[in-house]
Amino acid sequence: MPKKVFPLSQEKLEEIIRRYPTPFHIYDEAAIRKNLRRLFKAFSWAPSFREHFAVKATPNPYILRLLAEEGAGADCSSLAELMLAEMAGIRGEKIMLTSNDTPADEFQKARELGAIINLDDITHIDYLEKCAGFPDCLSFRYNPGNLVTGNDIIGQPEEAKYGLTHDQLIEAYRTAKERGVKRFGLHCMIISNELNANSFIETAKLMFHTAVEIKEKLGVSLEFVNLGGGVGIPYRPEEEPVNLEYVGEGIRKAYQEIIVPAGLDGLAIAMELGRAITGPYGWLVATAIHEKKTYKDYIGLDACMANLMRPAMYGAYHHIVVVGKEDAFCDHVYDVTGSLCENNDKFAIDRKLPEINIGDRLVIFDAGAHGHAMGFNYNGKLRSAELLLKETGAVQMIRRAETLDDYFATLSFDGSEFGAKK
Ligand SMILES: *Cc1c(COP(=O)(O)O)cnc(C)c1O
Repeated sequence: MPKKVFPLSQEKLEEIIRRYPTPFHIYDEAAIRKNLRRLFKAFSWAPSFREHFAVKATPNPYILRLLAEEGAGADCSSLAELMLAEMAGIRGEKIMLTSNDTPADEFQKARELGAIINLDDITHIDYLEKCAGFPDCLSFRYNPGNLVTGNDIIGQPEEAKYGLTHDQLIEAYRTAKERGVKRFGLHCMIISNELNANSFIETAKLMFHTAVEIKEKLGVSLEFVNLGGGVGIPYRPEEEPVNLEYVGEGIRKAYQEIIVPAGLDGLAIAMELGRAITGPYGWLVATAIHEKKTYKDYIGLDACMANLMRPAMYGAYHHIVVVGKEDAFCDHVYDVTGSLCENNDKFAIDRKLPEINIGDRLVIFDAGAHGHAMGFNYNGKLRSAELLLKETGAVQMIRRAETLDDYFATLSFDGSEFGAKK
């Protein structure tokens, strides 16, 4: 059985395309729900486990709502993301604001929603107190610097802009406690798109030791540690997914060894997974509209990097299947391109694929997280629609495609002037 599966038959896909022309993103509700249940099960040993889904991965309230129905909350890092969580019916401490370089209106909105606020810097204590006041539960983002190594996307922690140093962290809890904050959490995210399960267990250990240190030095018993997101997905067919049960079990052992003897039993475990929840269960569907042969063979799609930026931005691999030719020999080599006037607008370079004809539908895999979300309008490109394949088999449009009117909506030909010389 192929490891990468698209949940729609060719016939059903064509039926959808008659109604919603390509390109579009489509998400699989049943698979997303099942995946989230698996995460909760892997951590069912914990006195309390919370998943604050990273809204930036798939910022659509329909997706957020179905995740919330399974028990997830939201991790927000902008005003719009806080509002999306609100639209999805997520409230209070189900929301965590993990933002950086944070403007006042975000802190104010987070307070209005009763969210947990996670500060990215020690100076934000004053800023938050002045502009919004403290929330019931305050958290700090820890950057352990050279105590650990990061990975490609986030880079080395010491070079990363996020979080407080170790000494700042201790100082921050002390200061906030003096100013009357009573409930605290700790956050750390140092890796992104990581497939090595052990690195999450190592991060958890570091966090647990830090929780014990905070207890010993300041008498503060943290309510939770938030291990952040960063669980990778197997973009390449030969890669293996992170074994969540193994991660859960490894973290359980560390909890028994570090947290329980320190009298911190009851400490909740939180995560902010985005990619690992929705990534594999969203696809970008496009149509081949041109074939070009020069020094290389190109297939031009009706989608471009405005619909899925990861290949162009990170050189990321996204698996591609030509619908109806799943079992054909991959005896052609193509660059699969979009139409942006940027030479890196390529979904694949030198990819072995079956022969592609104009009109063929191409399915680009693992576009469920950081896919549509990273869309943009450069070159006048419009963002595509998002569809949800529901558990009933029905297809629901959960975001329409942008139109030229949307694109032109912010132009102003009659804007008033000021400041001309008299
Ligand atoms: C991006 C981000 C996440 C989600 O990362 P994934 O790789 O999608 O799991 C979680 N927390 C923070 C603070 C982030 O910036």
